[in-house]
Amino acid sequence: MINDRRVVPEFYSPIYRMAVAQFEQAAERLHLDPNVRKRLISPKRALLVSVPVAMDDGRVEVFQGYRVHHDCTLGPSKGGVRYHPDVTLGEVSALAMWMTWKCALVGLPFGGAKGGVSCDPGAFSRKELQRLTRRYTSEILTMIGPDIDIPAPDIGTNEQVMAWMMDTYSQHKGYSVPGIVTGKPLSIGGSMGRSAATGQGLVYILAEALKQKNKSFSGMEVVVQGFGNVGSNAAEILYKEGCKIVGVSDAFSGLYNPKGILIPDLIQHVKKGKVVSGFPDAEKITNEELLVLKCDVLVPAAISGQITEKNAKNIKASIILEGANGPTTPEADLILKDRGIWVIPDILANAGGVTVSYFEWVQGMQNFFWKEKEVMEKLKDVMTAAFASVLETSIKENVDLRTAALMRGIKRIADAYLARGLFP
Ligand code: GLU
Repeated sequence: MINDRRVVPEFYSPIYRMAVAQFEQAAERLHLDPNVRKRLISPKRALLVSVPVAMDDGRVEVFQGYRVHHDCTLGPSKGGVRYHPDVTLGEVSALAMWMTWKCALVGLPFGGAKGGVSCDPGAFSRKELQRLTRRYTSEILTMIGPDIDIPAPDIGTNEQVMAWMMDTYSQHKGYSVPGIVTGKPLSIGGSMGRSAATGQGLVYILAEALKQKNKSFSGMEVVVQGFGNVGSNAAEILYKEGCKIVGVSDAFSGLYNPKGILIPDLIQHVKKGKVVSGFPDAEKITNEELLVLKCDVLVPAAISGQITEKNAKNIKASIILEGANGPTTPEADLILKDRGIWVIPDILANAGGVTVSYFEWVQGMQNFFWKEKEVMEKLKDVMTAAFASVLETSIKENVDLRTAALMRGIKRIADAYLARGLFP
């Protein structure tokens, strides 16, 4: 799948392979300039850092951290910070590449970046998490800045982690720099609507997709894999819109109720116990069973590589709305396409998060903050326009939605490369 002479071996990983396979397919269709193609296949720069942390018991643990800039042609690079045991250079690089296409597709003046630390954040005390975050931030200090690269939350990080990152950066500078991160608490310059933005964006996109199929939210059966920020917000908003959420899961187990799960009650349950398990009024199922439940819409909102050639043929949903980054492998894409299942790709479906991050950055730069209604209206405009443009390309070029979305994102970057030329 990967042309070995072009991809630097350091970036090899199953997920990077996926990102490159998708890129190559869209590049083929675009007849992308071969020189631009060579430049976009690897990240612009990548930093590996070791992050020593004093643990509460007095030991020092050393964690591996990363920050990767895939591209910064259109402006500063942008992307989340992931704390997860599976974080590797290859994973972060793939996620950074997807951020480039995502920002370009929805028209943000950003390139793509991603960072992370290979660790299990659930095993840390609050103090350990804070020390890890502060040390990681100072290790990547040369790579970030409000005009250079702006981190945000991703799996395993949240607004508290962003607050510590902002504080660490500001302490180094000697003055407050709110524009260094997005997804911050409101009290230090966060944006209204940012925490629910990815989930809300998914819902705006699904509304557009349903319109195409002459359907509405009412009674629509939905399964949501993952109950973190993206999955729980999407489930809650869809529930309020009248969908029946028949299945949900987290990293440990799943729940099924064909009559519909009471999502507001489940959110309370998870607030108390951190996991979906133990929730009454639902049958316990595994994550594998969850993905192949009978439903109309499947929302993979957990981690990458969940829908594969093994389970794609058994999926019953007619729409897959990708809340996670990279949940579907290229092999599964082919099977789903053959079966007529509509896959609404990650770089379109989950772009609501980075879009409101952009709004947060703009508000911070201007020191002028918007009301929630204004943020949501602007988000809806961006998502609706992006969906329409992807659908148009998909029809015109006779390609699936993923290829269409990638083609639009990649084309915007390629045009910028060609306009700017190669230095020196
Ligand atoms: N981590 C999110 C994503 O993958 C948000 C990134 C951001 O807001 O910069 O899109």
